[in-house]
Amino acid sequence: MDVDVVVVGAGLSGIGAAYRLQTECPDRTFAVLEARDAMGGTWDLFRYPGVRSDSDMFTLGYQFKPWTAEKSIADADTILGYIHETAAEFGIEQHIRYRTKVVGADWSSADAQWTLRLETPDGPRTMTCGFLYSCAGYFDYDRGHTPEFPGLEDFEGEVVHPQFWPEDLAYDDQRVVVIGSGATAVTLVPAMAERAAHVTMLQRSPTWIGAVPGRDKLADTLREKLPPKLAHRVIRAKNILFTLGFYNFCQRFPDRARSMLLGLTTKQLRDPAMVEEHFTPTYDPWDQRFCAVPDADLFRCIRHGDAEVVTDHVDSFVPSGIRLKSGRVLEADLVITATGLTLKPFGGIAPSVDGETVDLHDQFVWQGAMLTGIPNFAVCIGYTNASWTLRADLTHRLVCRVLNHLSLHDLAAAEPKPRGELEERPLLDLTSGYIQRAIDQFPRQGDRGPWRVRQNYLIDSVTTLNRRLASSMVFTPRKTQDVIRIDA
Ligand SMILES: Cc1cc2nc3c(=O)[nH]c(=O)nc-3n(C[C@H](O)[C@H](O)[C@H](O)COP(=O)(O)OP(=O)(O)OC[C@H]3O[C@@H](n4cnc5c(N)ncnc54)[C@H](O)[C@@H]3O)c2cc1C
Repeated sequence: MDVDVVVVGAGLSGIGAAYRLQTECPDRTFAVLEARDAMGGTWDLFRYPGVRSDSDMFTLGYQFKPWTAEKSIADADTILGYIHETAAEFGIEQHIRYRTKVVGADWSSADAQWTLRLETPDGPRTMTCGFLYSCAGYFDYDRGHTPEFPGLEDFEGEVVHPQFWPEDLAYDDQRVVVIGSGATAVTLVPAMAERAAHVTMLQRSPTWIGAVPGRDKLADTLREKLPPKLAHRVIRAKNILFTLGFYNFCQRFPDRARSMLLGLTTKQLRDPAMVEEHFTPTYDPWDQRFCAVPDADLFRCIRHGDAEVVTDHVDSFVPSGIRLKSGRVLEADLVITATGLTLKPFGGIAPSVDGETVDLHDQFVWQGAMLTGIPNFAVCIGYTNASWTLRADLTHRLVCRVLNHLSLHDLAAAEPKPRGELEERPLLDLTSGYIQRAIDQFPRQGDRGPWRVRQNYLIDSVTTLNRRLASSMVFTPRKTQDVIRIDA
């Protein structure tokens, strides 16, 4: 076997997984295989103006590496710097193999090992490992989502998708239309408004958007007064509780959450009619991912007249811009299609077991991490209602726990198996279009215990690492390789 564990992807999650593997499973060898020629994933790929997190970095950052930069909501370059610094500080770089894309993975029950098919600069290669851990993110790096727009070929200006931002794109004094109303659109509009002649955000329907402070003043005070590690822990705890509290408030009291958010937006925009028309979604807060705008930058640039929001549908592109269903034509030199990501489960690796491709949608997720029907395989999927890394780090530690359990009991493989029938539910329960378009490609969650994906860090932090593994897993002993249940 080439290595004990292969981690797919050197993004925020892959680097975190490597740290946990080397600290919690020091007896295991591992490699991080990365398709691109750089680490950082999301934070290296996206280059559009203003690109930033919308979670606070005390929770999107690692538990084990304090976030010390000024801003709590940080730009991509600062996040990328933090990922690089982590990899260098903990000696993770030496484990990364760049330009190595995993394109296939077959589990052999007889050998209790994975054979990975790789695309490398030297041509196709194979590699074997005992455990495969996908930290490949959730979207397609090669393809964004752009709906079919009639007449696009007639448009005389330029059309750009934010995922493929041209390095030399000049938009000074241009009329820009940004199609979309998600996190990318609300980031782009104020950033581009600084240089463009005018920016219009064209949305089909409104999204819940709220202002958050870009800099956390309480965090600044705590960082002045406490040692870095302690300050980081206290600020993390505060932010975890606040985010979870806000999410639960929205879910339990949607009417009160609506009126609170609408009140805050009206205070920012000082125009109730505009709020009603463009900032009052039909769905309840947090039924889709909530958009945070640091220091109310979006609202400020709308108030100053540098940007406007139009709620309408594209009828067709025309040479001078976009004709809307209402008949209005938005004149544009540049159109940005912030119309979303294309979801891609597990880096496009379709795992097979003993030569049979596993249909991921037929499988259930155990503890949000391992899948039925696939031994020694885990995936890192972060929270949708809180910082991705909170869940990712629990999953890394769970993987380490499973690996240590295998070592301790001289076992070769572990595979989740429910006792009794599970009632099936979609893995992600947000109603957002980009999730609904792809949910059939993802495995499902069950209705109870370790088969539920709760999106609740407080519950998960207590249960994830403390459940008895044997109650919902089957193990293969190293020698006989007969499947048995072991009571541990
Ligand atoms: C613009 C933007 C802003 C975001 N902001 C936030 C935020 O504020 N808060 C939040 O919680 N989440 C946010 N997210 C979600 C974000 O993707 C996660 O927070 C986090 O960065 C994911 O890290 P990751 O390492 O799991 O995945 P990624 O960052 O996607 O990294 C995956 C890595 O795996 C590699 N890879 C993929 N497939 C293969 C393969 N087959 N073989 C080898 N390598 C492969 C990729 O090249 C990439 O380097 C944002 C996403 C985007 C697009």
